[in-house]
Amino acid sequence: MAPLLELHDVVASYGPVKALHGISLEVEEGAIVAVLGANGAGKTTTLRAISNTVRRSGEIRFDGRSLGRTCAESIAGLGIAHVPEGRGLFPELTILENLRLGAYTRRGPLKSDLERVYAYFPLLGRRRNEQAGSLSGGEQQMLALARAFMQRPRLLLLDEPSLGLAPIIVSEIFRIVKELNREGMTVLVVEQNAHIALQVASSAYVLEVGTVALHGPSAELERDESVRRSYLGY
Ligand code: ATP
Repeated sequence: MAPLLELHDVVASYGPVKALHGISLEVEEGAIVAVLGANGAGKTTTLRAISNTVRRSGEIRFDGRSLGRTCAESIAGLGIAHVPEGRGLFPELTILENLRLGAYTRRGPLKSDLERVYAYFPLLGRRRNEQAGSLSGGEQQMLALARAFMQRPRLLLLDEPSLGLAPIIVSEIFRIVKELNREGMTVLVVEQNAHIALQVASSAYVLEVGTVALHGPSAELERDESVRRSYLGY
């Protein structure tokens, strides 16, 4: 069976600055795959290339269909949710309003999905009428995840969920990501925190200056001490 997501030789640039120099990667349906690498390696740009929010070329296929000419909004409509770095929430809107916005690309009643979201994240239910900006950093990351869930995506693109958060909150967020994955959501997660990402991902790609430096099953990458030291930073 073809992978759910395939990138072949993807190049992306910001004006004259080339950020990706030909990235190829695959994500099987049902998997959690991590994209690791240092600052500026091209992790965020890889996600932007998939959701078509950066100028890119090369081949990107989702569920066998080329996304080359598909605009960002239609890509969301196909079932790809993107939680960007910085989370992309609307701080003046309430938690409930943010959640409703997450569902704008799809039809159907929201009530049962909201109930499921509140079961995963009881705090969001209790505080649903408060402004999103009143939440702590970790709670905002949970709201960003919950909003993506409202889109009922087949593929979740998650950019640096651990950024700026205490380790205990990071563990909680990755626990929820794993649960969402168990329910059938495929996940491509970008992380600088390789150690935590490799705990949940089945395989990982390590980027270096816009190219794939290495990839393989998480356990294999972690087992190799020189890989850990040279590429993963621990
Ligand atoms: P970080 O963890 O810092 O976000 P990253 O691996 O996600 O790093 P990218 O943000 O994808 O890396 O950046 C890849 C390259 O593209 C870097 O050289 C960066 O300076 C450059 N870049 C990113 N965004 C822009 C932009 N808006 N304009 C110009 N260059 C950019």
